Amino acid sequence: MTTQIKDKEAFQRLNFLYQAAHCVLAQNPENIQLARFYCHTLRTVSKRLVLRNDPSVKRTICKRCSALLISGVTTSIRQKKLHGQRQTIVRCLSCGLTKRFLNNAKYNLWCEQPEAQLEVHPRINQDKHSEHKKDPEQKRPSTSKGDDEKKQG
Ligand SMILES: [Zn+2]
Repeated sequence: MTTQIKDKEAFQRLNFLYQAAHCVLAQNPENIQLARFYCHTLRTVSKRLVLRNDPSVKRTICKRCSALLISGVTTSIRQKKLHGQRQTIVRCLSCGLTKRFLNNAKYNLWCEQPEAQLEVHPRINQDKHSEHKKDPEQKRPSTSKGDDEKKQG
């Protein structure tokens, strides 16, 4: 089964930039500026093409200065208790911006929930609208809409 991924090359580029940022920082911890440049480019590309970064990527890039956040190298990580709830506080050592994560083991990210998966939706629609339009939907995945938008824009 081959699935066509929209903006495949852009995703490959984002993947490369993210890995490159990790590589240069692993080679030499003083390469913070270079890693920041890669991450900044990554954020610019994903913003322009409106591509969502995976939470694991998003959480390791500083929102303010685009630095790659690695614990002990570019960030400090502390545990704090606020309002009776334990939190993980990740602080960027370059600009001082903090990210807060509640320590909740039961928390589910939206992208990990079954309704967030695009492949589930056609099946739900097929069940609701019974038989008519069943075959055209299977032959044509919803990518045709995106192509039309591309031509216009
Ligand atoms: Zn920062």
